[in-house]
Amino acid sequence: MDQSGATEARESRPNWTNHSLVSRLGRNSHAAPDGPGQVKIRTENLSFYYGKVQALTDVTLDILEHRVTALIGPSGCGKSTFLRCLNRMNDIIENTHAEGKILMDGADVNSPDTDVVELRRKVGMVFQKPNPFPKSIFENVAYGLRINGIAKSELADVVECSLRQAALWDEVRDKLKTPGTSLSGGQQQRLCIARALAVQPEVLLMDEPSSALDPIATAKIEDLIQQLKEHYTIVIVTHNMQQAARVSDYTGFFYLGELIEEGPTEQLFTTPGKKQTEDYITGRFG
Ligand code: ADP
Repeated sequence: MDQSGATEARESRPNWTNHSLVSRLGRNSHAAPDGPGQVKIRTENLSFYYGKVQALTDVTLDILEHRVTALIGPSGCGKSTFLRCLNRMNDIIENTHAEGKILMDGADVNSPDTDVVELRRKVGMVFQKPNPFPKSIFENVAYGLRINGIAKSELADVVECSLRQAALWDEVRDKLKTPGTSLSGGQQQRLCIARALAVQPEVLLMDEPSSALDPIATAKIEDLIQQLKEHYTIVIVTHNMQQAARVSDYTGFFYLGELIEEGPTEQLFTTPGKKQTEDYITGRFG
């Protein structure tokens, strides 16, 4: 690697020292801006195909930095597909392709030059069913850090900070060596959030993160989302409209692979502009 390449590689790596320090101070290097958010991710006429089956049609959407964007709509309408396009998780499914554009901070996500591993570090994901690794609580969070080359002396600090950010530290600090799978469902989901946060993402994608949880665990995840948006850009798929109304700043309504309507959450739920949106939010279908 030439010298400029080496510098670039170093600069693109997370700064772990900052990570642990800012977290201890309770702040982050990218605090929420005042006023309207900046566009973090923009999709332009995004279409997506599984073989010949078209799952998304011409979706154009701006996702704003340090805001929570909820994606709602009936099952099978392309919400998860859209989410997985944003960090190219769909790449691992054979015989699929995307058309249109996805720009993150202005850079083309689908460009052959995109470093997909780095993209997935920046755009983390939390799934519907908590999926801790069959390892200790500590190792679940440490795993991605080790892969990203964190110094041994920093590891314990960053694991602690990540667990704190995921509002789990107080519940697990005395049992970090026990398996992640021994935790309750809600705790496992917060462990998966800590794991995603450990590598310092900029965007967090959440695919129905509380649909497998009881109401108390769900409330904890919703509180956590409110705290996390100060530091991260969050996109959440939810089939629960009350949840979308509670946690999100912006909502997009998907139907049959199209983004029918999007806008500020309150506006979309109180004065929807399209009849299909109104029919859906008033429970006439879905
Ligand atoms: P939603 O998240 O709104 O429930 P999905 O994005 O999961 O919708 O699905 C959108 C469409 O894409 C559906 O018709 C679904 O059957 C199809 N689909 C989703 N995942 C796959 C896959 N791995 N292979 C083939 N088709 C898929």
